[in-house]
Amino acid sequence: MSTLTPPFSDEHEQLRQSIRGFIDRELAPHAQQWEEDHWFPDEVFDKLAAQGLLGLKYPESHGGQGGDYLHEAVLCEELARTGSGGTAAGIGAHVNIATPPIWKFGSEEQKQRYLVPAIRGEKIGALGITEPGAGSDVAAISTRAERVDGGWVVNGEKTYITNGVRAHFIVTAVKTKKTTPPARHHDISFLIVDRDEGVVSTALHKLGWHASDTATISFQDVFVPEQNLLGELNGGFKLIMANFQWERLAMALGAVGAMTIAWERTAAFARERQAFGRPLSGHQAIRHKLADLATSVYTCRCVTYDALRRFVAGEEPLKEVTMAKLLTQRASFELMDACLQIHGGAGYMREYFIERAARDARLGPIGGGSDEIMREILGRVLAL
Ligand SMILES: Cc1cc2nc3c(=O)[nH]c(=O)nc-3n(C[C@H](O)[C@H](O)[C@H](O)COP(=O)(O)OP(=O)(O)OC[C@H]3O[C@@H](n4cnc5c(N)ncnc54)[C@H](O)[C@@H]3O)c2cc1C
Repeated sequence: MSTLTPPFSDEHEQLRQSIRGFIDRELAPHAQQWEEDHWFPDEVFDKLAAQGLLGLKYPESHGGQGGDYLHEAVLCEELARTGSGGTAAGIGAHVNIATPPIWKFGSEEQKQRYLVPAIRGEKIGALGITEPGAGSDVAAISTRAERVDGGWVVNGEKTYITNGVRAHFIVTAVKTKKTTPPARHHDISFLIVDRDEGVVSTALHKLGWHASDTATISFQDVFVPEQNLLGELNGGFKLIMANFQWERLAMALGAVGAMTIAWERTAAFARERQAFGRPLSGHQAIRHKLADLATSVYTCRCVTYDALRRFVAGEEPLKEVTMAKLLTQRASFELMDACLQIHGGAGYMREYFIERAARDARLGPIGGGSDEIMREILGRVLAL
């Protein structure tokens, strides 16, 4: 399937080929092992940094490549070729959700201390918003930062945090104002919390994304210096919202990438595998299923690229991004299930990529704002 579709140009296509080569050489051959280890090595970040892939959209002045979101979009799509949703998720969390708030809201000093080493692969980042008592309802978080001389003391717990074991710093949402009743959206701030005394991570075990370290992180009397306040005091909700559109687009692009590969491999399998004296694709039911799935990949790609085009053009395409996230995550999961079915018993076996891809795809309709939350947003946008 051609990927040279607007908004991408020849330049992006060259980047795509170079990323693809890097992934084929450096990441994909190890995916199976990393999944079994439930961990991919930190050196992956060094390798990505050496290729300039941790700073595609960041300015050269800070060690980035001076590109924009379209360059990053190519990476989001191609990372699916790693064949390990967990590895792609760990890299994605670093470049798509942990570092963007520092780039957008950080002081120059914070950028030098966190963004520059993050682009070099020396410091790995995580974003800590979700808590045991607050997921979709972000404003209900209860991790508290108490003002003390020279900074803050943080107590509370975050959960389901990607890179939560390995991260050197956690961009953390905290409550910084006490009011009765709680101010909800107006009492959240962000602190960049270093992995230090009092920061305790516990790895979680998951259905998919095995190579990524998802963790509960508890903060026990953690001192955070004043200069680590990110953005405005009590202005954290704005910071959360500012990156949601990109996070959701990145997820949509990742799904489109994963769907494309799953379709290609499943079609190849169906041409090869014989049943009742002919290839599976020679049976109309399978052929039609693959035709439907190709249509789904194409639809998801078109809707995602349209939202991306608008986003890059500086529109605020809340409706289009929300629709792209909603459509692609569910469609990806359904496509993986259908592709697994076409593989028959082989699809249930560890040695076939589709077993992992089907498990990995289940996260999409939950993470980064669930399907139900996407529908709630659309309900508001559509004035329902
Ligand atoms: C593998 C993994 C990685 C993650 N990585 C990160 C990370 O790096 N950083 C981070 O901060 N978070 C992360 N998350 C958290 C993720 O964003 C949340 O799981 C997600 O936002 C849903 O929150 P919840 O799990 O608390 O579910 P809940 O909010 O408890 O929702 C439970 C169910 O109820 C539905 N629901 C909730 N509210 C409504 C409503 N108003 N109307 C209808 N239905 C509703 C939800 O859609 C869902 O189906 C990760 C999660 C997973 C599983």
